Amino acid sequence: MMPRIDPRAALLLLAVGLAARAQPVLIRAGRLVDPAAGAASTAQQILVENGVIKAVGANVAAPAGAQVVDLSDRTVLPGLMDAHTHLCLTVATQGGQGLNELVQRLLAATLLETNARRALVGVKNARDMLDSGFTTVRDVGNAGNFADTDLRKAIEDGLVPGPTIINAGRIITPLGGQFHGLQPERPDLGEPEYLYADTPEQMREAVRRNALFGAKVIKIVVDDQPYLYSVEDVKVLVAEAARAGLKVAAHAATEAGVRVAAEGGVASIEHAYTASTEALQLMKKKGVYLVGTDFSRSAAEAMGMADYHQKVVERLKRARAVGVLQAFGTDIVFPASGQTRGTLSVGGIESFQEAGYSPAEILRFMTTNAAKLLGVDGQRGSIRAGMAADIVAVPGDPLADASVLRRVSFVMKDGKIVKR
Ligand SMILES: [Zn+2]
Repeated sequence: MMPRIDPRAALLLLAVGLAARAQPVLIRAGRLVDPAAGAASTAQQILVENGVIKAVGANVAAPAGAQVVDLSDRTVLPGLMDAHTHLCLTVATQGGQGLNELVQRLLAATLLETNARRALVGVKNARDMLDSGFTTVRDVGNAGNFADTDLRKAIEDGLVPGPTIINAGRIITPLGGQFHGLQPERPDLGEPEYLYADTPEQMREAVRRNALFGAKVIKIVVDDQPYLYSVEDVKVLVAEAARAGLKVAAHAATEAGVRVAAEGGVASIEHAYTASTEALQLMKKKGVYLVGTDFSRSAAEAMGMADYHQKVVERLKRARAVGVLQAFGTDIVFPASGQTRGTLSVGGIESFQEAGYSPAEILRFMTTNAAKLLGVDGQRGSIRAGMAADIVAVPGDPLADASVLRRVSFVMKDGKIVKR
């Protein structure tokens, strides 16, 4: 005899079951790119269940009740990554005064904008990055007093849409942070935007403070003041970060700074604008990633840094010849009319194109390499069974022309379709 089931209870159970287990999705990909191999295969299917890729192949069947997404006219690839963002910072410059003006605007933002405002700026920029196809970013500080941790958690909790964020918390620097011309009666004006650490004890405490308040990577500034961190200083920071399971990203713009950071054993060097070929060779030998943050010509001109653009393109050419490890990172913090943080960031590919990099190399910097640097390569950065379902699609072939990455028309983040 069949047990009697109250129909209302059955409906409730069904609803609970549906909420816990999202509908499977089968994506039909006209072309599927494997960035690590720099190759593509045609007519593939990708099965996604509960945020994870379950199967990939030419003959994957759709389970009963699956949602079928037809992208057979497009190229499907893993979500893009940006290894150098400042989501909780937007500063408008008038242009024409270059980095000096930018730093003055940053100081003004530090003094005048609340942490809540910084977090809200982050919400907007995070959404725009995701809309342009960036499903993971490493956010390297300048987020007020840990607004980046709140932003990361809000995204993880599903409160707001955005990429997976590896956030740096407060940037650790020698006295003064990245501000120049601070006056002696107010030397502390650089905090909390920065976290001053000048002695080994202060450095260890600064790393611990960041780890305690939710940082997933440590960002340090090696050479923005006349007094640089030393190789020994960097080793102290790297060792303490490693004890907390964190990697170190180092701002180093000068030749001396790049050498100190590389000898000190950081995971990545940010900028290295004027690094010599010998310094790039040292980075290669030490396995340090270059995150060049090479503004495109138009972005550099908007910042009043046109001459800088030629220098970084020349440095990119030398970096390619040396074969230093690279990951894509943008450093965009300014607004531009008709653009979003996402469209400006993907524009960073222009400098690589100008320097003669192949589309496959550029794509690898934005996926495979970035995933390794960020430490998420076990979960993200490729489309295969067991990986998180961070999937985007573009028209055309990104292995023939990287420019099509500017036209991401489909975005799935952790199995959820956020753009179609
Ligand atoms: Zn930066």
